[in-house]
Amino acid sequence: MEFVCSACGNSFPLDTRLWRCPCGGYFNIRDPKPYSPFKVRWQTLSLWRYREMLPDVGEIVSMGEGMTPIVEAEWKGMRVYFKLEYLSPTGSFKDRGTTVLVSFLKGIGVKEVVEDSSGNAGASLAAYAARAGIKARIFVPAHASPAKKAQIAIYGAELVEVEGPREEAAKAAREEAEKGYYYASHYYNPLILEGMKTVAYEIYDQLGKLPHAIVLPVGHGTLLLGLYQGFQEILKAISIRIPALYGVQAKNCSPLFEAFHSGIEKIDEYAPKPTVAEGVSIARPLRAKEILQAVKKSKGRILAVEEEEILKAHKELAQKGFFVEPTSAVAVAALDQLTHLSGKRVLVILTGSGLKSLA
Ligand SMILES: [Zn+2]
Repeated sequence: MEFVCSACGNSFPLDTRLWRCPCGGYFNIRDPKPYSPFKVRWQTLSLWRYREMLPDVGEIVSMGEGMTPIVEAEWKGMRVYFKLEYLSPTGSFKDRGTTVLVSFLKGIGVKEVVEDSSGNAGASLAAYAARAGIKARIFVPAHASPAKKAQIAIYGAELVEVEGPREEAAKAAREEAEKGYYYASHYYNPLILEGMKTVAYEIYDQLGKLPHAIVLPVGHGTLLLGLYQGFQEILKAISIRIPALYGVQAKNCSPLFEAFHSGIEKIDEYAPKPTVAEGVSIARPLRAKEILQAVKKSKGRILAVEEEEILKAHKELAQKGFFVEPTSAVAVAALDQLTHLSGKRVLVILTGSGLKSLA
């Protein structure tokens, strides 16, 4: 297993301190470990039950992430499975990727990391870094939710607020990375995707069958790519039909939606408008081409929803007992566009806790 550059094909060891190839391409993983149902450690009640399918790490830095419940509910006449990723240790699905990355970093002796985040990935990294004894500096847009910023700070990470759009926080983190700090980016580092793929394994194990469709919010698309990779790996071991993946964006920031419907695969320029779905307010998703290809190959689609639809779904979800952040409601709001799936097994991933979006 090694890193491979997505642009030039050069390979690098997993313990490289580089965060991307000198040619500018981002890294993917070459030769991930294969999925095998016989290698699942059933008695482990976290995603580390799939350890044999994950990169080798020394000591596991875990807080019991993964194994989130799947709860059935009715949504406007549809039966829907909700996967409650918001019950993860730091309140979002990001913990799946972070546990793998931080375990690996501890094993190779990394002492200090930097990261940029709209909030959830930063909070997740801050928590796992604290547990691992690694110092973390997190760059967040100044306009991020106060609750998310407070969460990052309370874990003991250094919180650096950056004025301007999300991209400014990314720039600030990368400048630090150039000085030699490990850039523990939740979208650049493909070890994050290794953790994300476990959600596919878990859905399969929990339901004992696969849904026909999975609906989820998409920003940088790490969860969607993890799902697709996980299902691909299951498919190599068992004959399954991969669920159609429906990635949903807020219309106000929907570069993938526009690219999907215009048939282009590269997003150079996109001018976003503000959205309540801050977690998916990503104007230039790093792995756009891979996301679009995964969606197409799974026979799914990229959808977009208006702000008022997001807020309405957010409230209606809470009235069914699911208190999530507005970013998670994006996926639920899109169900109105998927009525053709009525009667099919539809699973929606609820990604982040509502407690994170309280002012
Ligand atoms: Zn390269």
